[in-house]
Amino acid sequence: MRELDVFYCPRCGYYAYYQTSRHPQCPKCPSQDAMSMARIHYAEFMHMSCKERDEYLSQAILSSNPSLIKRLTAPSQKYDSHNLIAEMNTVIMNLDTENKILSDTVKWMHDTIWELLREKRQTADSQAAASLEPCGDTDGK
Ligand SMILES: [Zn+2]
Repeated sequence: MRELDVFYCPRCGYYAYYQTSRHPQCPKCPSQDAMSMARIHYAEFMHMSCKERDEYLSQAILSSNPSLIKRLTAPSQKYDSHNLIAEMNTVIMNLDTENKILSDTVKWMHDTIWELLREKRQTADSQAAASLEPCGDTDGK
């Protein structure tokens, strides 16, 4: 009879004990990825604390996924300060441009609103003047 093995999902970290040589699918992940078998005796694994299990599985997941390690350590290697400064300058320039466009828009809206208000006031004035004209009453103003 086969012994239990510890299987874990390299995607979400879910683990379970199975009595199978076939790699089971992760019941937690929608993609139902095949789970990996941990290289540890299940009894040893079961005696670990939850924290130790988490640490063990994180190590296992990391070592089974070299590209993940690469991605995690990439930023510190990739960005020397020159690159970082250049990149930030680009971001600042983009923000500057965006800001200019926005303030132009605000200025345009401001002008438009004032123009509309002026027109409205002129219309109101001429209407008021027109309505006042026939009787010559100035009290209403
Ligand atoms: Zn999973």
